Amino acid sequence: MESQKKLRVFVRSPDLVLPSRALTLAPDLTLRRLKLAFLPQSLLSQALTIDSLYFSLNGKPLPDDSSLAAAGVPDFSALTLRLRLRGGGGDGGATGAESRDCYLNMYAIKKPDKVDPNETRLSKWTTCALSAEPLSPPCVIDRLGNLFNKEPLVEALLHKKLPKEFSHVRGLKDMIPIHLTPIPSAAVSETKFQCPITGQEFNGKYGFLAIRGCGHVLSVKALKEVKSSTCLVCHKEFSDMDKIVINGSAEEVRVLREKMEEERGRLKVRKEKKVGACLSGTKHANDEKGGILDNGKKDGRAKRFKAVDVMPTHATKEVYASIFTSSKKSDFKETFTCRSLPLGRN
Ligand SMILES: [Zn+2]
Repeated sequence: MESQKKLRVFVRSPDLVLPSRALTLAPDLTLRRLKLAFLPQSLLSQALTIDSLYFSLNGKPLPDDSSLAAAGVPDFSALTLRLRLRGGGGDGGATGAESRDCYLNMYAIKKPDKVDPNETRLSKWTTCALSAEPLSPPCVIDRLGNLFNKEPLVEALLHKKLPKEFSHVRGLKDMIPIHLTPIPSAAVSETKFQCPITGQEFNGKYGFLAIRGCGHVLSVKALKEVKSSTCLVCHKEFSDMDKIVINGSAEEVRVLREKMEEERGRLKVRKEKKVGACLSGTKHANDEKGGILDNGKKDGRAKRFKAVDVMPTHATKEVYASIFTSSKKSDFKETFTCRSLPLGRN
């Protein structure tokens, strides 16, 4: 039967520092059973329960009760067994009953395994900062220069599951789409991208900047050597403000954070002004046109005043009104308080 076709799945668990395994599994196997099969019994304790772990596929958490088939695990996919660090409800995982020892133990397990700084650096440049999956377009950066695959980031944002370290990503506008230039025939190397100008590899050894606006990612060297205020790839103009350092130093990130907060402050002031203007127009608080019109006249009462109310006795209503309305009379979509609606129709 087709549905009983075995699935070949690669299971890994960087959180637990367990060896990765390639398994052939029945599609009706539940993820909970797979967990039990994958985990060495010795690792489970009162502190580290089976529920403190979950599987994810491409950064998306999978429910324990679901079978591989129901969870949509395709043949030849890579599952990651992750530690639920962020409990606190809603995810059905952390119950609060687990003791803190669970987490402390995890760190105790992790510590002896010294992390190679080169590997950490490389992974920052080759994997998504959220899902840890290899970078694969469409990719985005946040305003601090962290790299992401777009899908897991959007998913986490939608379900309000972004970890604290990325809490500055508040909406889609905080995701800057980027275009990474692939290295042709990069099958062997772990680095898949490069600078389109200098050919420097996107592996953390060289500085890279993303240009907000067009999203092209160029090496610092290329931008320095070819002094230009237009993108070297698409020739779109950009300013210094549009440059975002990717995976920058602590100092560079601090500068980016300041820039972000300053921009948000400016936006907030602008929004408040707009809302204030809209609110002063009584009936059309949400009507932008009303707000702008009102703002332009500086006097809320002027808006409700109709010229025909004080029309000279022998004047034709329409002609008289036309003095005060715009010459373009065809746009009837406007609200009745707007100037461009022919007053003759009131
Ligand atoms: Zn460009």
